[in-house]
Amino acid sequence: MSRQKKFILQEKDIPTQWYNIQADMVNKPLPPLNPATRQPLQAEDLAHIFNLECSRQELDQEHAWIDIPEEVLDKYKYYRSTPLVRAYELEKALDTPAHIYFKNESTNPLGSHKVNSAIPQCYYCKQEGVTNVTTETGAGQWGAALSYAARIYGLEAAVYQVKISLQQKPYRSFIMRTFGATVEGSPSMSTRAGKDIITREPHHPGSLGTAISEAIELATTTPNCKYTLGSVLNHVALHQTIIGLEAEKQMEMAGEYPDKVIACFGGGSNFGGIAFPFMRHNIKDGRHTEFIAAEPNSCPKLTRGKFEYDFGDEAGYTPLLPMYTLGHDFKPANIHAGGLRYHGAGVIISQLIKDGMMYGVDIPQLETFAAGMLFARTEGIIPAPESCHAIAATIREAQKCKESGEQKVILFNLSGHGLLDMTAYDAYINGDLTNYTVSDEEIEQNLKAVPGMQ
Ligand SMILES: *Cc1c(COP(=O)(O)O)cnc(C)c1O
Repeated sequence: MSRQKKFILQEKDIPTQWYNIQADMVNKPLPPLNPATRQPLQAEDLAHIFNLECSRQELDQEHAWIDIPEEVLDKYKYYRSTPLVRAYELEKALDTPAHIYFKNESTNPLGSHKVNSAIPQCYYCKQEGVTNVTTETGAGQWGAALSYAARIYGLEAAVYQVKISLQQKPYRSFIMRTFGATVEGSPSMSTRAGKDIITREPHHPGSLGTAISEAIELATTTPNCKYTLGSVLNHVALHQTIIGLEAEKQMEMAGEYPDKVIACFGGGSNFGGIAFPFMRHNIKDGRHTEFIAAEPNSCPKLTRGKFEYDFGDEAGYTPLLPMYTLGHDFKPANIHAGGLRYHGAGVIISQLIKDGMMYGVDIPQLETFAAGMLFARTEGIIPAPESCHAIAATIREAQKCKESGEQKVILFNLSGHGLLDMTAYDAYINGDLTNYTVSDEEIEQNLKAVPGMQ
């Protein structure tokens, strides 16, 4: 009997609405606060730096379904639907009775899920008369996605990339420039914030904190310029639900429903994207799917952080957000999964963890690369170092099934490919990578900087 390997939706069957889980949550997320007054922010407050529609979506606790604009759907069709794939070879290698499926978000030309939100963010900017967009990027996945989306809607994009990342992994900056974006290593001399940092510390390697300050400064001092963010915020996870909504239809084609849904976790966008549509059936229809977010053990906000109001960025420029946090100036070890080196969890996810709707697992770097190697050698796809965390968590679950003899259905999100991260694989193969840990004392120390803890 011939078995089906992958499940693909026709263009006409691609979902036409995003799912806003906030509307269905029993306990709603707490509001973001103005750090000076401690008053809840309104959409108009956020719209000083973000476009108005995303600012509204951010705080929308009313509408469970939000129409995807026609013009966005047209662009989604350049690379969606993405395949849902049954990982037969991985199952065989693990000798597990579990059925393992993955949603392959690495198949678009930018190589990660981030473009799913870059496109609508740039579309709304265009609609509102914005001409310029700006952002920060670490390893460059978000900068690359935004540069592409800005190009298709005719916007100018300025990306501040963490200087040390730009020097060590320049290829994604070449992608950004190919699409016409300008890329500055941060700290740069192009903003007051950057100049101040360089004056104080001429060889500052840069961080997401320095890059955020520069991008926000540019957005607030340039007419018709908006800031954009590739993770953490509610509207970003909203746009990413296209992943889970497609997967729901595709699992139906496969005749199965997931017992466990797994994704890696940086700020929560790819996790929310695949998880929220399935979680609605736990909330509304009494399903018992387990939701597992895989984080690096060197940046363990879900498993060891505290639920507090904290800043979203290192420099303390953003509103205060109610989140599981390690403290906004926590400095994660230099692991290769750059996209997971973030101190806090998004606001929705933080509430869902508090309510026991999902949980985190923390995984050491070497285990993630061992998982990525096994996946590459069985399924033929080299995963992004971030996605390796999801694979490692999946393997743990599949091994539990082997021990118990249970035939669980596991679905994980392959958030991106690792073809621009091959130096990391080379280092792993050469035995040059290490595990990092973080002590309780270090976490306690960092939490002292959290405003809510003072
Ligand atoms: C950015 C990124 C992540 C982490 O971000 P989330 O918002 O947590 O999804 C994970 N995987 C890849 C490939 C990324 O580019």
